[in-house]
Amino acid sequence: MTHEAKVEAVARAVREAAAAGVQVRPFKRRGVSHVVPLPKDGRFTQRPVDVTDLDRVLEIDRDARTCVAEPGVPFSRLVTETLANGLLPTVVPELEGITIGGAVAGCSVEGMSYKYGGFHDSAIEYEVVTGEGDVLACSPDREPHAFGMMHGSYGTLALLTRLKFRLVPAKPFVKLEYRRYDCVEAFHAAMLERCRADDFDFVDGIIHGPREHVLCLGRFTDAPPYVSTYRWLKVFYKSTRVRTEDYLTTHEYCFRYDTECHWLTRTFPPLEWWPVRLLVGKWVLGSTNVIRTYKRLEPLFGLKRRPDVVCDVFIPDGRFEDFCRWYERDYDFWPLWVVPYRIPKPYPWVSPGWAKGLGDFVIDCAVYGKPNEDPAVDASEQLERKTFELGGIKTLISRNHYTPEAFWQVYDRAALEDAKRRLDPRGAFPDFFTQFHRVG
Ligand SMILES: Cc1cc2nc3c(=O)[nH]c(=O)nc-3n(C[C@H](O)[C@H](O)[C@H](O)COP(=O)(O)OP(=O)(O)OC[C@H]3O[C@@H](n4cnc5c(N)ncnc54)[C@H](O)[C@@H]3O)c2cc1C
Repeated sequence: MTHEAKVEAVARAVREAAAAGVQVRPFKRRGVSHVVPLPKDGRFTQRPVDVTDLDRVLEIDRDARTCVAEPGVPFSRLVTETLANGLLPTVVPELEGITIGGAVAGCSVEGMSYKYGGFHDSAIEYEVVTGEGDVLACSPDREPHAFGMMHGSYGTLALLTRLKFRLVPAKPFVKLEYRRYDCVEAFHAAMLERCRADDFDFVDGIIHGPREHVLCLGRFTDAPPYVSTYRWLKVFYKSTRVRTEDYLTTHEYCFRYDTECHWLTRTFPPLEWWPVRLLVGKWVLGSTNVIRTYKRLEPLFGLKRRPDVVCDVFIPDGRFEDFCRWYERDYDFWPLWVVPYRIPKPYPWVSPGWAKGLGDFVIDCAVYGKPNEDPAVDASEQLERKTFELGGIKTLISRNHYTPEAFWQVYDRAALEDAKRRLDPRGAFPDFFTQFHRVG
């Protein structure tokens, strides 16, 4: 089927739902969603519009270093195709099944974020289907407000159907260097120094405990002396505790956290045992398998007081050390993944007052799997509250607790309403605030 025919089918489905007064949401038959499943999840009750077939890379222009692709392309396939041309997206989320449309409509961070921000910051143009069922091209020159607001819209404004974005030169291997610091101050200073110097291709960090901060620095190379792999028997995040350097293929570097879904496999400790990995690893490891298993176990979540905390928060760089001291004292769940992130230009969905405090350089701190069973404290709410207090932004991919007053201090209500009027005046897609507060 041609791209145009697929888009027309999506537009028709949206028009039909709108005519029937029914709200819609994007739905993919293949792969998994990376919005954290919640017990009795009420967030996905709208009529599904099938966007599964929108999953092709349409064009890679090696000279112009651009790519045109449909939103359902998973990063693992995109990286294979761009690397074949000596190129890479500016930001590749670590899980193989995350799609380019999901990364724009949701969020994305990675080791090149210290210079490029999120994946959406590399976007040149989007094609979307509006709530009226119209096909609209948006770019910084044409429909600039709609273009800017698609990032972080989580399916509440329009459906992405085609994306054009920039690529950067890449080599086939990455050399990793690990530098250790026993306090957050030294770690933070070293991380900023490397970001300022811009002398590595990738910068991120993993904090294994209050005295174990590891700065991970990556550089492209053509000629590695050896190549490691963490796709089966060995565990990547553990290797960062003991090694001082490593070499990976660039594809494996991009998805180095995929095998364990960061460290969510730890929820079932035998999955980290060598003999178990040898016997069943091929079938149970990998983020798509891990997330599918989580979803299958969804009914059991009802037995837990609350789901484990899985969330990214963006902390203004100036408050990062405060955040870490609080985290060490009151949160105490390790590892904590840390990614420096430059906001190339202010995001229009952040309210101007909040954007001022946030600044243009933030540190993404990602918590993967903190148990949340304490009857007295909801750890998800605690993380949200601390992030708010420090002027940061919490991604909306899991549970949200904001009051409307607090929420609209962070998000720009007028900008969202403007975008809604342009893209979805009759409300074919869910309302932004309601969508994220319907958790049961
Ligand atoms: C366990 C876990 C680990 C993660 N690790 C990382 C990581 O390492 N790096 C990183 O950058 N991010 C990470 N994330 C966050 C992830 O990138 C975001 O949740 C992203 O939005 C997921 O995209 P997806 O392709 O899975 O889309 P989905 O989860 O299916 O959708 C995400 C949102 O985008 C909307 N959407 C999807 N397709 C479209 C479309 N075509 N048009 C309009 N809206 C659409 C959906 O409605 C939904 O609100 C992680 C999330 C989880 C749960």
